Amino acid sequence: MSPMAKLPLALASMVLVLGSASCGSAPSPTPSASASSSPTPSPTAAPSPDAIAPNILARDPAEGGLLDASGIRVTFSEPVQGVDGASFQLASPGGVIGAIVNLDAGGRTATLVPGAPLSFATAYTVTLSGLVHDQAGNRLDRTSWTVSTSNVVRFSPGTYTGYQFGDSPSHLTALKRSTVASLSEATASDWQTIDDAGYLLVDAGILAGYWVHGEVDGTARDDLTASIPGLPACDYVDLPAARVGYGQWGTTVLDTVFQLPRGYAPPDLVDTSRAGLNGSFFIRAIAEEDLAAMIKAAGSAGAHLAVQSAYRSYAGQVLTFDGWVSQSGYEQALRVSARPGHSEHQLGTAIDFKTVGGIAPWRYADWATSTEGAWLATNAWTFGWLMSYPKGGSALSCYSYEPWHYRYVGRTTAAAVHAAGTTLREWLWAQGYGVR
Ligand SMILES: [Zn+2]
Repeated sequence: MSPMAKLPLALASMVLVLGSASCGSAPSPTPSASASSSPTPSPTAAPSPDAIAPNILARDPAEGGLLDASGIRVTFSEPVQGVDGASFQLASPGGVIGAIVNLDAGGRTATLVPGAPLSFATAYTVTLSGLVHDQAGNRLDRTSWTVSTSNVVRFSPGTYTGYQFGDSPSHLTALKRSTVASLSEATASDWQTIDDAGYLLVDAGILAGYWVHGEVDGTARDDLTASIPGLPACDYVDLPAARVGYGQWGTTVLDTVFQLPRGYAPPDLVDTSRAGLNGSFFIRAIAEEDLAAMIKAAGSAGAHLAVQSAYRSYAGQVLTFDGWVSQSGYEQALRVSARPGHSEHQLGTAIDFKTVGGIAPWRYADWATSTEGAWLATNAWTFGWLMSYPKGGSALSCYSYEPWHYRYVGRTTAAAVHAAGTTLREWLWAQGYGVR
């Protein structure tokens, strides 16, 4: 987790609130151990003009205690002086925290109130230095102890997404969603910022072992208000896609990371011949009308399109991927084909086009330079179809350039993606469809 930046809530650079007025009253240089001189004459006849150093009678919070915004309170055995921002400090692993330090009129109770919000689930060190002394100049033994802020995460009723990351925030290794019906709590062991959003590492309870969106006060944020983490790297992992309802066909994010369930098989497949194409291939009925309109318009423009491949079941994709592996090897197959569950063809809304009577489109140097490929590249979006893997976009789309592979997302979404000028995967992810 080291690449992640610690949330800079407890800025070490905060200006210390120093009690400069006390700087003029330096403690007596006389070491208390060599108190051979007569007791310091006191104008008010202190009960024991002394050679005894002050000590701490009480501290709140004490060692291992819970620190909150109200800060720290210390009671001394006798009136002391020299308590200020230099002698009474609170430090996080990142450095000293700006704070307001006060000593009560009797000189027996000192308080330290943090000047900035404290970090969640973090250990702090409290230090009182030997600059603190009694009226006779006897110094307090330097004392320090450790306190911690709360590690309790509160979940209000709602739906939460947990993320497990690999060696960097963009490397998702697992994802889990959980719905909470009533207020509940869990513990957390760390707090990080990832893509400028705060995350809590939950140790016990709901979503244990996952980072969840959270606030510095330990409140988890539900999916509706949570920010969206950055586009994941194109790792070859198997995370469940967020939107796998048959009604969510236009927004399902499928790539090398997210996959459909094995049993995902749309119930409304129709033969592509119904849209004026060669038959014995299948697409979902929801795409038929716009597909037919597109094929008709293409034909009128002299672009004669045919289907190379359309719907493929999970089992069909097993055969397809294995075919590429045996032909080109596993590494190359990963770049040009989807592993089972990761293919848009399983959605029933993707078609690999070709030219009527032509060879397979991937056997062209660039099928987009053919009459048919060029017409689609220019016009398909106006009919609700998008080229999923455009030229130069493989780092973002996760697959090599495929000028023949189009996915139906509906005219509204296609127009929005076209206007955004991004790949479909980027656009869907930015809407939060990758995780909600
Ligand atoms: Zn395809």
